[in-house]
Amino acid sequence: MGKIQIMDEWLSNKIAAGEVVERPSSVVKELVENAIDAGSTSIEIFLKEAGLHSIQVIDNGSGMDEEDALKSFSRHATSKIEKEQDLFRIRTLGFRGEALASIASVSKLTLRTSDGNGGVHLYMEGGHLKEHQPTALRRGTDITVAQLFFNTPARLKYLKTIQTELGHTIDFVNRIALGYPTIAVKLVHNGQTLLQTNGRGQVQQVLAAIYGAHNAKKMLPFEGGNQDYKIHGFASLPEVTRASKNYMSLFVNGRWVKHFVIQKAIIDAYHTYLPIERFPIVLLYVEGDPQLTDVNVHPAKHQVRLSKEPELLKLIEDTIRSLIREVIRIPLAEKNE
Ligand code: ADP
Ligand code: MG
Repeated sequence: MGKIQIMDEWLSNKIAAGEVVERPSSVVKELVENAIDAGSTSIEIFLKEAGLHSIQVIDNGSGMDEEDALKSFSRHATSKIEKEQDLFRIRTLGFRGEALASIASVSKLTLRTSDGNGGVHLYMEGGHLKEHQPTALRRGTDITVAQLFFNTPARLKYLKTIQTELGHTIDFVNRIALGYPTIAVKLVHNGQTLLQTNGRGQVQQVLAAIYGAHNAKKMLPFEGGNQDYKIHGFASLPEVTRASKNYMSLFVNGRWVKHFVIQKAIIDAYHTYLPIERFPIVLLYVEGDPQLTDVNVHPAKHQVRLSKEPELLKLIEDTIRSLIREVIRIPLAEKNE
């Protein structure tokens, strides 16, 4: 008899979890992205001990009926992709169908969800379904992930302090609030509200909630476009800078991504107006045909390959440069603070 065996699904989920679920913020990310994909207009995130104790995400999206809710924990279970062509025109944040299976395999998870008709309340431990019963709920989903990594002690040990773990989640939730001004986002840690946006679509309100009203007032709107891409966003006056490049937030078709070449284009647009080793606060939205933007680069989906990149870089640099030139011509009162 041969030695090769196909591992059971439970074990392969636990291995995949190593890739998808690194820390509490990765759980928040997956749950919040599911809430967005479900069309929610309100997403509330409650953390206890930075999520080391528990992470709860409540949304008012499409929800699931009992059958789908049970299916959603199987590996590669997804409602977002059916055929190969779909992979090249992805509009949703999720598509791998791995997150719920992975998260459930390394935590104690409670799910209450309903599509408005049927609903379910279920409880899982380490990927094993312990209880489930039909429930009548209003449309939406409420997931609580408790005792993350309780059955993977090596992972648990690798986690950093509460402050560090919380910092990762705050960064992520800030990006979501910036990326989706039409969703009311609330983040509560140990009973304290850290961020709350109103979901009315005013980016300025979100900027004020995150960077403070004082800084938000010093961020100016811009927009531009070429044959393939449309861009818009806000860029800070050169007097408002940070010591890190992390305050330049980029969204491609709604997805937050890291893109060093685009960051460089933004910095170049400011030319010599930035102090040495200081960087602007910028919010940049890029919209283009999903066929031009390949997000299937890495499971964390933080990278994107862009077709016609040189043209896009030029568009970004030119648009922000003319904005900066324009404001520089108007003398600023206290330029050097
Ligand atoms: P993916 O997001 O890649 O499809 P997930 O494992 O994150 O994979 O979720 C599996 C499926 O469960 C989703 O495709 C979706 O149909 C359903 N689902 C998950 N979370 C929610 C939610 N908050 N509201 C509605 N449906 C959800
Ligand atoms: Mg998902």
